[in-house]
Amino acid sequence: MDEQQAQEKINILSDKLRQYNYEYHVLDHPSVSDAVYDQKMQELRELEEQFPELIMTDSPTQRVGGEPLEAFQKVQHNVPMLSLGNAFNEQDLRDFTRRASQHTGKPISYVCELKIDGLAISLTYEDGRFVRGATRGDGTVGEDITSNLKTIRSIPLKIKDTEKIEVRGEAFMPHKSFLALNEAREKNEEEPFANPRNAAAGSLRQLDPKIAAKRNLDIFLYGVGEWETGTLASHSERLEYLQELGFKTNPEWKRCDTIEEVIEFVEYWTRERPQLNYEIDGIVIKIDDLQQQEELGFTAKSPRWAIAYKFPAEEAVTELLDIELSV
Ligand code: NAD
Repeated sequence: MDEQQAQEKINILSDKLRQYNYEYHVLDHPSVSDAVYDQKMQELRELEEQFPELIMTDSPTQRVGGEPLEAFQKVQHNVPMLSLGNAFNEQDLRDFTRRASQHTGKPISYVCELKIDGLAISLTYEDGRFVRGATRGDGTVGEDITSNLKTIRSIPLKIKDTEKIEVRGEAFMPHKSFLALNEAREKNEEEPFANPRNAAAGSLRQLDPKIAAKRNLDIFLYGVGEWETGTLASHSERLEYLQELGFKTNPEWKRCDTIEEVIEFVEYWTRERPQLNYEIDGIVIKIDDLQQQEELGFTAKSPRWAIAYKFPAEEAVTELLDIELSV
């Protein structure tokens, strides 16, 4: 393929991905499955790797999420809320751990967590009180959805730490709430939601908090953003501290000292995920030591100290054939 052909293909793929991003992140109403999206994104990434001079700063490979809706007050994220790099197979995971060990030159421990399929949320506490809750938005500017988040009962309105702390996690709709909601919508001849992720995002981005209150949403907290006085040395200690403060953390995380243990965790949850009462779309693997995280740093879009392994989607095979015909 010559540069001109690559440019044409890059334009087509970028336009499609921008459209999909808008439908998914802004309208909460995707027109294609995540597998189709991920495959096109991967194709774009490979083309850009081959022709790095064609990478535009506004390429979908360089940007996070979607624009915040005008209807909400904007919230600036002083520490950006980023996306995660993806792994689709064991080799990708091994490459991630190899790159990390080469970079730090030291043994590395990992924390494996379930990748909850909801939407990323930031909660700010000042003087021990919940003062602001926001969506990720485009990573730098999100939407102020404090009133809607206050309807989630597992979010503490008061915590015992009085320093300013911003806690981050994933809001989601448990299966039971999702089924009940869609059943009610069908009875009222309203369009059902495509999946629990869209239902959760659609519920939290309503102007009337009474709607969110009826939707029985929940949240798992998995990290911190802005935290001036934070002194803990590892991600696992942070998870424990969040739990101590009264935040709901997901109990199914594990500290692993080798890539074999990581792969075992991934395989276990690939089998066992139907047992959960909420949706997960993969496993997030994070380097535990915060000093090592800092050494590894970030790309434009994601941290180099974490990766999201994505479960293969069952419908992927037929849809991939559709893609080849359509691009
Ligand atoms: P991502 O879903 O690959 O991963 C990043 C997100 O994972 C974080 O922002 C956070 O919200 C979430 N997460 C869940 N559990 C976590 C945990 N334990 N620790 C840390 N983070 C956790 O990236 P993204 O930028 O949010 O979205 C891109 C993905 O969204 C695509 O890969 C695709 O699957 C989907 N998407 C689909 C469409 C579509 O049209 N179907 C369009 C756009 C995006």
